[in-house]
Amino acid sequence: MAEKGSTTKGVRTRFAPSPTGPFQMGNARTALFNYLFTKANKGVFVLRIEDTDRERSRPEWEEDALENLRWLGLQWDEGPDREGPYGPYRQSERAAGYRKRLEELLAKDKAYRCYCAKEELEAMRQDQQSRGEAPRYTGKCRQLTKEEVERKETEGRTSIIRFLTPSRTLVFDDLIRGKISMDTGLLGDFVLAKDLESPLYNFSVVVDDFDMAITHVIRGEDHLPNTPKQILLQEALGLPPVAYAHLPLLLAEDRTKLSKRHGDNSLTRFRKEGYLPEAVINFLALLGWNPGDERDIFRLSDLLKEFSLKRVQKAGAVLNLKRLDWLNGQYIRMKSTGELAELCAPYLEQANLLEEISKGRYRVVATGKQIGEKELSSVVALYQERLKRLGEITNLADFFFQEKLSYEATLLSWKETPPAKTQQALERVGELLGGIEEKDWNKEEIAKILLPAAEEEKDRGFLLWPLRVALTGREASAGPFEVAEALGRTKTFQRIEEAKAKL
Ligand code: GLU
Ligand code: ZN
Repeated sequence: MAEKGSTTKGVRTRFAPSPTGPFQMGNARTALFNYLFTKANKGVFVLRIEDTDRERSRPEWEEDALENLRWLGLQWDEGPDREGPYGPYRQSERAAGYRKRLEELLAKDKAYRCYCAKEELEAMRQDQQSRGEAPRYTGKCRQLTKEEVERKETEGRTSIIRFLTPSRTLVFDDLIRGKISMDTGLLGDFVLAKDLESPLYNFSVVVDDFDMAITHVIRGEDHLPNTPKQILLQEALGLPPVAYAHLPLLLAEDRTKLSKRHGDNSLTRFRKEGYLPEAVINFLALLGWNPGDERDIFRLSDLLKEFSLKRVQKAGAVLNLKRLDWLNGQYIRMKSTGELAELCAPYLEQANLLEEISKGRYRVVATGKQIGEKELSSVVALYQERLKRLGEITNLADFFFQEKLSYEATLLSWKETPPAKTQQALERVGELLGGIEEKDWNKEEIAKILLPAAEEEKDRGFLLWPLRVALTGREASAGPFEVAEALGRTKTFQRIEEAKAKL
């Protein structure tokens, strides 16, 4: 259903990242909400790269944005890598359009050149501040006559281009925040461009939004102060208005505005640590949107049906990473063990525990042994219930891929058990397990034999703890029966012997 704000002409939105740093959670949230709104309205989703800041923009950050958007499954319809009727889609390649509009504003005296030196501007600013006024350009160069301008030009003075900001009350409707009104006189004559070839953000955005036939601008609330400037520029250029929706601010857990000091919130970080795209999408959707009931699991396909800007809140949205962990765990549990094995394999390879030989076939680096998808599945299955991130698999399951475990002998002893007693416990376990044949080697059978014996002791840990440590070398791991099954009969005995030798 078309939402309020959509016009009869087709909806066209844009997501417009600046490639000046890693692609952040906040960027991804903006992209997702644009995508969902666009699809709900059968519109066209444009990816525009805002690289007018030549010093800070880097091709690798553009690539980082594209890669993470693809990983999330947020496919754009037009963009720098796809032909489209409104290209090119990088601002650095659209100079002619900006130049034309800047010349137009200058010719109509809606913009002017400002020759003030940096020091002069700084002095103005300090003067205003000392009088308790908000700093803004005084409009000094508005008054320059044609002759004065010409003289300065022949003198070779450098200038910037400022907008001649009209003073009035501006009111606009935000699809999320409602009516917003502001006194534009407070803006001062803001800068449009450093020169004809170097437009700044507010100006290039207005030109591009029009030239790309954008109907809806959906972006973070941090851009709200720019909106009046952009509306004034549309008016000055005689361009039709666009609809705006400003998404709630992202807050850190301490409820302050999210920033770098709150740690690395780049998408690449979360992707590398083993968060699933489904979980990240779900997490991002709930940063400002809610379904109006208690449900919290939403895949992209669900969101496409349910999302509406009407259910986006005004209040800031807290980036609660514990919720992301929880969601990721949920999506990990929904995988089949085969899928999970495939997802975990790259992490095990990166930790140099495994090498992929061909699809679904691996070599265990430490032993040279080959294993298939099925064996790998049985290992990752041990941890499917507790994994929060795929990357955790390397620490949890490394024992499986190592030739010899390294751990302290004291770890083998349950509570205060002396080493000689622990030795006996391991011997007893070995004898009991010796009764199970290769073909019956599974966790149920192992439990059937070991549990009653363990229960006979004062404390079942007396038998089971040393076994678990012998097999994993770790203080915490999956249970001993499952681990023994996954390791196999031969390896289990080998590790029990190695443990006995340590004591
Ligand atoms: N390029 C801007 C940014 O990355 C977004 C511009 C906009 O959405 O208007 O913050
Ligand atoms: Zn000036």
